[in-house]
Order: sequence, then structure tokens, then C-alpha cells
Amino acid sequence: MPTMSQLRGLPLERAELFGKPSIGARYTHGASYERTGERCCICHRPATNCHHVAPRRLGERFSLVTPDRTWLLRSPLFALCGSGTTGCHNGFHGGSALTARWMWDDPQYERWWWDGILLEQWGPHAEELYGFGFWRIEDKKHDRLIEIREGN
Ligand SMILES: [Zn+2]
Ligand SMILES: [Zn+2]
Repeated sequence: MPTMSQLRGLPLERAELFGKPSIGARYTHGASYERTGERCCICHRPATNCHHVAPRRLGERFSLVTPDRTWLLRSPLFALCGSGTTGCHNGFHGGSALTARWMWDDPQYERWWWDGILLEQWGPHAEELYGFGFWRIEDKKHDRLIEIREGN
């Protein structure tokens, strides 16, 4: 578990989003990013754009302070169909039918994350994190849980 000061005022499930792997998208340079996946990670229709999983109002970066250094972590990106007002992308916004949470397979891995051990090993957004956890998407509209354990 993170310490209170590590959370920087965010609820755990929000702070936990930053630095996790993207799905079908990646950062290129600076704040630029590109879609790499052809399919929407929720419904598998053609993907048209990218969603910032950590809402931008939480800030562009999250400073994760670990014993050895401070990591400036960004939001993961999901390749989705639709737009901010249509399709699965809307599900994460106005519709709020879809919510993403990062889940650890073991409490030990969660400790490794907050201690910076996983970041030291692989850096932010690393695909290797799927060896320790996964994305759980709650789809309230269809009353189902979607688990995603790979980036493309
Ligand atoms: Zn979709
Ligand atoms: Zn979005």
C-alpha cells in the first residue's frame, strides 16, 4: 500500500492509474501520442482515437515519490472506438458506463510498485507490468467485467 503522502490527495484507485501500460497506443515525444492498435480494446470495432485513462483534470503527471527517486508518471492511453461523445470513448466520459482500474495479482506486487521496484526494473507504461497485474474494465451498461492482460 502507498503511504498517505505518496497518494498526493488522490484516492488510491486514481493514483494507481498513472504509469500503467497503455492499450493500443503509446507516447511518442513530449505530450504527443499515437494509436498503434487497430481495434477498440473494449468492443473490438475499428479504433478511431485514444483515451487518457487518468482524467486530465487530475494533472498531466503524477509525481510518485519512492525511496530512491521521484517518478513523473503519465496517464495510460486506451485505443477506443467513437469519440468523447460516441461509442466506447463516450462510455468513459459522459456516459460513465465504463471505468478502468488497475488490479495487482498479488499484494506483494503492489508493494513493489509503490516502492519503485517495478519502475526501476522496467520504467513507466511497460508491457512487463502485465506479468504482475491487469486492467479491469467495469461495464455498467452490460453488467460485465472485462479483463485485459496485454497491450495490443
Ligand atoms: Zn468500442
Ligand atoms: Zn477520453
